[in-house]
Amino acid sequence: MKKGMTVFYEVDGALYVNLTNRCNNNCSFCIRKNGDGAYGSDPLWLEREPTEDEALAMLKNEKLDNYRELVFCGYGEPSIRLDLCKVIAKEVRRLRPDMPIRINTNGMSDLYFGRNTAPEYADFFDTVSISLNAPTAEKYEDMCHPVYHLSALPGILTFAKNVKNCVQNTVFTVVGDYLSADDIAACRNIADKLGIPLRVRTYIGPEN
Ligand code: SF4
Repeated sequence: MKKGMTVFYEVDGALYVNLTNRCNNNCSFCIRKNGDGAYGSDPLWLEREPTEDEALAMLKNEKLDNYRELVFCGYGEPSIRLDLCKVIAKEVRRLRPDMPIRINTNGMSDLYFGRNTAPEYADFFDTVSISLNAPTAEKYEDMCHPVYHLSALPGILTFAKNVKNCVQNTVFTVVGDYLSADDIAACRNIADKLGIPLRVRTYIGPEN
């Protein structure tokens, strides 16, 4: 396994942010099982997590005008470092107020922090993209192996319902390659009930 300190990296004209390799899932389809990076990036395994000062210093070296969007995605679950995501988002808002900011999350920040985290997303992210992954708690556990077991999907759905009221552009995604047509239809049904759009994506790596 190759490691480095790649915190910011480019994917298709967007600036991606990698703050942690920690994750509360172990998904069967996780890109981290296939290599050390994504889209030809340098290794995204971190020698250690950047401190706030280090991340802000690295951000200073990036020319934000060159990118269409800032995306917290990482090589791990970004919401585990939600406070640092907010610090970076705030700084990007100051430096380039028109830059869209998205977080790609597994939706488990409530479960991780043990509180309703949705209101904390309001001022920092233009888009919250939540990986729905599966239509039932059992199928979610089979596919994603969450540390919260069968509590994972209900917790994600509660977070999604709440964050939608804080960030209008909240979306669900599923990886179509890993689901049957019936499961995709069931995911769509869940999304429709919550009034959240569902995007069925092809597996090519971290969501973009
Ligand atoms: S939630 Fe994302 S980073 Fe975590 S194991 Fe699943 S695909 Fe990998």
